[in-house]
Amino acid sequence: MKKIAVIPGDGIGRETVTEALKVMDALSLPLQFDEFPFGAEYYLKTGKTLEDDDLEELKDFDAILLGAVGDPRVKPGILERGILLKLRFHFDMYVNLRPAKLLDARFTPLKNKRDIDIVFVRENTEGLYAGSGGFLHKNTEYEVAIQEMINTRRGVERIVRFAMEYARKKGRKKVTLCDKSNVLTYAHDLWQRVFWELGKRYEDIKKDHEYVDALAMKLVRSPERFDVIVTPNMFGDILTDLAAELTGGLGLAASGNINPEGLSMFEPVHGSAPDIAGKGMANPMATVLAVSMLLDFLGFEREAKVIEHAVSTALREGFLTPDMGGDKRTEEVGDYLARLVGGGEDVWF
Ligand code: ATP
Repeated sequence: MKKIAVIPGDGIGRETVTEALKVMDALSLPLQFDEFPFGAEYYLKTGKTLEDDDLEELKDFDAILLGAVGDPRVKPGILERGILLKLRFHFDMYVNLRPAKLLDARFTPLKNKRDIDIVFVRENTEGLYAGSGGFLHKNTEYEVAIQEMINTRRGVERIVRFAMEYARKKGRKKVTLCDKSNVLTYAHDLWQRVFWELGKRYEDIKKDHEYVDALAMKLVRSPERFDVIVTPNMFGDILTDLAAELTGGLGLAASGNINPEGLSMFEPVHGSAPDIAGKGMANPMATVLAVSMLLDFLGFEREAKVIEHAVSTALREGFLTPDMGGDKRTEEVGDYLARLVGGGEDVWF
């Protein structure tokens, strides 16, 4: 029995997680779910985000499913830092895994493109987002603001190794290193050396390299040429949003914050979307696809594919929420997907 901690959070996170759990239930897998209340309501009531004993309790789970956190009543940053970032850093979830797969060609803004199936492996703990830096002479005309880009050999090695291992395990052909080593001649020189040195151990995987600016152009012009892309934190942040738009937008984008040796967390890319919360308009597909990633990670690979296939079917059949041009409610899409994966329809292949 695998134990999954469920943090629905706020806004549409609560609504989409309800549907995602329906879909997971329909598979009748040996899974146990425990729900945690962290989020805006809990914070407003108790003044707490996530305490040390909560982290202690979470550590015994096999994975976390998170909806979204954020609420207009709470100052921006408190919940994000107190919950999301705390979980990522405490459990050292050093991989941000972001698939960008076009499930239905009608949902890309690109003309005549069908074949987009990229997995981004974004470094999730270092780079420009490590939080190292400071001010000198703050609020004077001599002010200096420094934000340091942290790259450790251990950090770079483990993310490159993950990308190679992932490619091998999933039968993917190529890993592309995306950096800016022509300008960041120290930081990304380390990435270059590690990538090519470590890459020698993966003869079965093709390896190549792109500068981030060129890669951004090629992603739009010829996304079919990419397979697995490994990249530092900030470039990954930007490119994965670009790639999400190429494959259907926020309503379909899911991600994993992974520590292959520890606890991992899966979530939709979108936030709590207060503008549509409580109206039954939220698209549950991103959270359902996050569940697919979670199951894949726990070893239920076939079931993960069944869920993805069900989402493709819903897209093909036009069973969609308003953000995707449909007229269905959140709950109707959840029920439909649950029925499909439950075997009511022929999605086994
Ligand atoms: P943050 O990302 O800062 O938590 P947010 O939730 O407002 O904030 P996004 O998740 O970026 O922002 O979403 C932007 C807008 O896109 C939302 O306000 C909403 O209108 C729409 N949106 C996002 N996710 C969905 C979804 N799953 N279904 C339907 N619409 C969505």
